[in-house]
Parts: sequence; structure tokens; C-alpha cells
Amino acid sequence: MIQIKDKSKCCGCEACVQVCPKHCINFAQDNEGFFYPEADVETCIQCGLCEKVCPVLHPYDEHKPLEVLAAINNNEEVRKESSSGGVFTLLAEEVIRQGGVVFGVRFDEHWQAVFDCAETIEALAAFRGSKYLQARVGDSFTKCKHLLEQGRQVLFSGTQCQIAGLLHFLRKPYPNLLTVDFICHGVPSPKVWQHYLDEAVQAGKQAIADIKFRDKRLGWKRFSFTLNYNEQKLSYTLTSPFTQNPFMNAFLANLILRPSCYSCPAKGGRSNSDITIADFWGIEQVNPELFDDRGTSLVLIHSERGKLALNRQHLKWASASYEDVLHFNPSWQEPAPCHPKRSEFFAAFDEQADIHELIETCLQLSLHDRIKHKIKSFMNLLKKCYFLQNV
Ligand SMILES: Cc1cc2nc3c(=O)[nH]c(=O)nc-3n(C[C@H](O)[C@H](O)[C@H](O)COP(=O)(O)OP(=O)(O)OC[C@H]3O[C@@H](n4cnc5c(N)ncnc54)[C@H](O)[C@@H]3O)c2cc1C
Ligand code: SF4
Ligand code: SF4
Ligand code: SF4
Repeated sequence: MIQIKDKSKCCGCEACVQVCPKHCINFAQDNEGFFYPEADVETCIQCGLCEKVCPVLHPYDEHKPLEVLAAINNNEEVRKESSSGGVFTLLAEEVIRQGGVVFGVRFDEHWQAVFDCAETIEALAAFRGSKYLQARVGDSFTKCKHLLEQGRQVLFSGTQCQIAGLLHFLRKPYPNLLTVDFICHGVPSPKVWQHYLDEAVQAGKQAIADIKFRDKRLGWKRFSFTLNYNEQKLSYTLTSPFTQNPFMNAFLANLILRPSCYSCPAKGGRSNSDITIADFWGIEQVNPELFDDRGTSLVLIHSERGKLALNRQHLKWASASYEDVLHFNPSWQEPAPCHPKRSEFFAAFDEQADIHELIETCLQLSLHDRIKHKIKSFMNLLKKCYFLQNV
């Protein structure tokens, strides 16, 4: 029976929860906001399935990809809405055209990240763009298995540990399954995100029309965090380069990641996915012809199925080397180092904590940056009041 004694040894993939024949594993949120399995000893029949499917207890081997590419989706509208070069949508559209089903992550009504499945090209829009949050898997592995058993083509996308969890959960290979993951920096606490939003949006979350963690209005490399509001039939936008957004700063400085992300069990190909996609940072040096600051994908192909799935006719692409991956995207192999003030942050984090203030203190932003942030927040507030009075 699964028992989590060391939280760094559970990536929260939910494979154990879904496989349990007695449905006796609860998935409960801890005080940091991350979810962990808790088995009910009374109901458990000691079948051991939960341990069998755990990707942390049974990690796959590391491997090098068969092929490395730099790629750009020819559809500019799709690329604009995607975080990198829009390769995810290209792969997903092919599967939908064959009558298949695509699993991905969208926002729910509280602006938390959740898994869902799509059967139309239009429905893929909700999956586009990175949501820098740990997404709840729910019963997606079970649904995926049913579809595979029915003979449907399925594309399942997720973090590397979620893909490793899915493959363990399925316990046998399916020729009709294509798995797509991404190089993963880690996932921040959903609870910190919830508090951040509560503070950022004093008007209430119902007013939010859209959130983009990777808005490309200032470019792909200098991406922005954007909130679009609809309030009393008025719409307005708050946007800032990611370097000026406290939540993004805390995420990228590794202050608020899940404990398992600091010793990730699925890096270096250990997810066993067919394809890994990511940002091709450094493409301007490797192949300037594929750089226009509107997004270039790094594509790592791990299987023959992955090779066949990528329709290169709809891409601008070029081969790249494995050394480029190691050099420009070390997250492929190396987990994020834990921020020295992570424990301090979570010790002070409670219902009353001022998240902006706490992040700023823990990241020790300079006085200059803190004043700049305050002025910017004040200007945003003024802009909002002015807009509401004049439209
Ligand atoms: C939490 C997280 C960390 C990442 N870290 C890195 C990194 O360190 N380096 C790097 O190069 N790239 C990273 N990426 C991947 C990168 O941001 C792009 O998502 C990826 O390159 C695909 O881009 P795209 O343009 O092809 O398509 P997009 O349309 O941007 O891709 C969307 C895909 O991401 C999935 N997705 C979105 N949010 C989540 C989520 N919370 N959990 C699971 N799946 C999600 C969608 O279901 C869909 O499959 C990360 C993404 C996420 C979500
Ligand atoms: S051992 Fe079997 S019954 Fe017990 S929690 Fe694990 S999966 Fe459920
Ligand atoms: S890593 Fe996944 S399978 Fe293993 S204990 Fe955590 S949630 Fe369960
Ligand atoms: S860093 Fe590793 S453990 Fe953390 S979410 Fe990404 S794949 Fe999972």
C-alpha cells in the first residue's frame, strides 16, 4: 500500500489513485497546496497495485532521442497562441483528423489547471499555451485506457512524470497511443497561485476572461504574463513582462515548486514518451533562419511512432544536435535546484499572508525593483479606474 513518508518521492501523477480497485486512496492537499495520496488502511486489500504503477518507485531508464529538430508551425495564428513554435497543435490536429481523441490541460472555472479531452480541432484552443501550475489528472488515465481499448487513436500530453505515470498505469503498450510531454521546469503550488490571483484580482475572479502565462505581445523570449478582464461589460488587460510578475518570479526562481521537482524522476528521457516538445532557447545562435522571436519549438523524437506522427509538410524545420539540447535546455536532464528560502516561504504562507510581499522578501528583490513594482501596481490601478470612468 502506497504511503508517502518523503514528499519528494511523489510527483502527484495520480496513477495510484486511479488504479486502486477498492477506490480507497484519497488525494489530499497539504499545507503547501500540493496533492498526495492517502490510502485508507481499513479498506485496503494489500493488492500492491498502487506501488506497481508508481513512476517514482519504478523509473524508466534514461535515453537519448532518436532525432532532434527545431520547428515552427506554418499556421501563424496557432503559433501566436502557443507558448513555443506551436508543434503541440500540429500533432493534435493530425490525431483529431483521424477520428482520435486528444488529452491536454485547460483552465477550470477557478483558473486552476485540469486535464480534459478534445475530439474537435476547435476544442484544442483551450489546451494551447503553458499553464504554469500542477494540473489535476482526475480520471484521465482511466478514460484514456477505455478509449484505447475501444481502438480509438489517442494523443495524451502532459508533464514528463504524468506521462511516466500514465504508461505505468496502462501496464501494456498500445499501438494507438501517442504520448507527448515537454521539458519541464517544475510545477508551482496551486494554492500559492490561488492566493496570488485573489490578491491580484480584487474585483473577483469571475471578472477574468483569460489568462496567458506566455503572452507573446513583447516577443517570445521576453514573454508577458497577461490577465484579461470583463467587468460590467467592459474589457481591459493587465500585462507585464514575466520578469516583473511576482508569481512568475517565484516559479522561475524555484521558490514554490513541488518537492519532487527538485529530484524529478522523469528527466533525460525517463518518461518514455514518443515525443518531447520544448522551447528552442538559443535557436538564434544554432539556426538564425528559424528565429523570428515569435516562437520556435525544440522537438525530441524518441520512437518510430513519434517520427510518423509529425507531419513535416506543415512545418518549417531543421535538424539540430543533442549537444544543443544539453547546452541550451539543461532542464532536459537537470532538475531545478531548490531555492534556499523555500522553507521560509512556506512556513510564512497561510491564509493571511500577503503573497506579493512574501515573494518579494524571499527573493530579496532590490529596493529599486520593489519601488518599481509598487509604482507599476499603482499605475495599473489608476488605469483601471480611468478606464471604468470613461468608457
Ligand atoms: C509547467 C510547465 C513547465 C515547463 N517548463 C519548460 C522548460 O523548463 N523548458 C522548456 O523548454 N519548456 C517548458 N515547458 C513547455 C513549453 O512552455 C511549451 O508548453 C511547449 O514547448 C509546447 O509548446 P507548443 O508551442 O508546442 O504548444 P502549446 O500550445 O504552448 O502547448 C500546450 C501543451 O502544454 C500542455 N500543458 C499546458 N499546461 C500544462 C500543465 N500545467 N500541465 C501539463 N500540461 C500542460 C497542454 O495540454 C498542451 O499539450 C513547460 C510547460 C509547462 C506547462
Ligand atoms: S494496495 Fe491495492 S487496495 Fe490497497 S491502496 Fe493500494 S491499490 Fe488500493
Ligand atoms: S508518484 Fe504518482 S503513483 Fe507514485 S505515489 Fe505519487 S501520485 Fe501515486
Ligand atoms: S519537474 Fe519532474 S516531477 Fe516536477 S512536474 Fe515536471 S516532470 Fe513532474
